[in-house]
Amino acid sequence: MKTVAILGFGCAGYHCAMSLRTEGYKGDIHVFSDTDLPPYNPMLTTYYAGHRLPWKGLFPFGTLKGIAKSLHLTLHTNSPVERLDCKDRVVRLANGERVPFDAALISTGARVFIPPIPDLPEKNIYVMRTPNDAQALRDRLDRGDVRRAVVVGASMVGIKVAELFQRAGCQCVLADMAPSLFPLAAVPEVGKELAGRVEAKGVELKFGVGLSGIRETGDGLAVSFDKETLSADAVVLAIGTRPNLDFLDDTGPQVDRGVLVNEQMETSIPGVYAAGDCSSGYDIQSGRHQIIGLWANAGYQGVTAAGAMLGHPVRYPGTLLHNITHFMDMDFIGFGDVKAQGEVIRWRNNGFFLYAIRREGKLALVNIVDNHIISGVIKSFMSRKFLGNCEPISPMQRVILLRNGLNEDVIHLLESTELEGDLIHG
Ligand SMILES: Cc1cc2nc3c(=O)[nH]c(=O)nc-3n(C[C@H](O)[C@H](O)[C@H](O)COP(=O)(O)OP(=O)(O)OC[C@H]3O[C@@H](n4cnc5c(N)ncnc54)[C@H](O)[C@@H]3O)c2cc1C
Repeated sequence: MKTVAILGFGCAGYHCAMSLRTEGYKGDIHVFSDTDLPPYNPMLTTYYAGHRLPWKGLFPFGTLKGIAKSLHLTLHTNSPVERLDCKDRVVRLANGERVPFDAALISTGARVFIPPIPDLPEKNIYVMRTPNDAQALRDRLDRGDVRRAVVVGASMVGIKVAELFQRAGCQCVLADMAPSLFPLAAVPEVGKELAGRVEAKGVELKFGVGLSGIRETGDGLAVSFDKETLSADAVVLAIGTRPNLDFLDDTGPQVDRGVLVNEQMETSIPGVYAAGDCSSGYDIQSGRHQIIGLWANAGYQGVTAAGAMLGHPVRYPGTLLHNITHFMDMDFIGFGDVKAQGEVIRWRNNGFFLYAIRREGKLALVNIVDNHIISGVIKSFMSRKFLGNCEPISPMQRVILLRNGLNEDVIHLLESTELEGDLIHG
């Protein structure tokens, strides 16, 4: 292998390049990026927008120049890939340049989904994914002229943006078509519990409302939902993302929502790999392909792809779906299948609320409110079970759970593989 092409330079692309060099690869690495920024961490954008992080903090791996020098990369910046020709094994750029490759990684991530609203205004509408998105919202907040904001999408991104408006003293409405908060990660009971806490912080919530239009008015925007129209000085769309795969054609790999990959991150085309938010890897709970959309997952997948390119016996079995988020001085942690049915375990201890569903002797879902310390133990216990390792929670992990609000009875229920009926505590 003489030439590797890396398409997109975020977490997945960076980890692949770094790992190729760490593992001793001496050939060329061409990196194609549609920006001239270093690889950035999208999850830090709201922290920058809220002045809780400097610009430099968005780029965890350093400057582009420094990265290119230390990893000996041939960088193609401001060069969006226009076409990946998997038949001739060539990357084509908009300026006509063609770069041949022996192995390629598709790591172009995802972009914010903009709903197909006719005549969507250009001004006063914001999204949150890139450093430039964060800069735009930060500048707007700094102007101090947002009295009322509407955030569409009660997701992990939506809540962080709502928090920005709340902290800046703006009136904020967070709206979603779903019936409760975090519909993809929190069961309705936990979503409602969190909603109450968020409302108590002064954010207005509207559920079951579908966005139908946004238009300019003389002094701002009119945001229409099915039955009502809200006025706003600023609107943020946080309705989800779509993988960046427009450059694939019929010579390219199989795609469901993302590029389908195996446990080596190889696609249906030998020597062509995919990683991160544009790829569809394995959800270890269902065993099915799924876009995972998590920072650490993108990194592991990038490292795995590098190992596989070099012919090493690497394997990344996938991950458990999870969300860990901190907002408005509270935490929400969700693991597993939000639609799971089974025995319910509830545990309350002051503000801490744990809701779990056990199915077929395994924890199928765990929601935790206001207790991030136990999340690592629960995640590793759940993941181990899905990967076929039936060891109980270790004594050390048990101590962490006991010191942080659980007791022996609940731990027994979480570990138990026997049917015990619905269990309600606290
Ligand atoms: C606000 C927010 C909060 C988040 N919070 C969390 C969290 O709490 N925990 C967590 O684990 N994850 C979180 N995430 C998700 C996490 O940031 C992503 O899963 C991760 O960054 C994905 O990395 P990636 O390398 O796949 O993609 P990206 O970081 O999107 O990088 C892909 C790069 O490819 C570029 N590109 C796209 N198309 C082309 C093209 N045609 N040619 C060349 N380059 C191209 C893109 O511009 C981008 O620079 C959050 C994301 C956001 C936006």
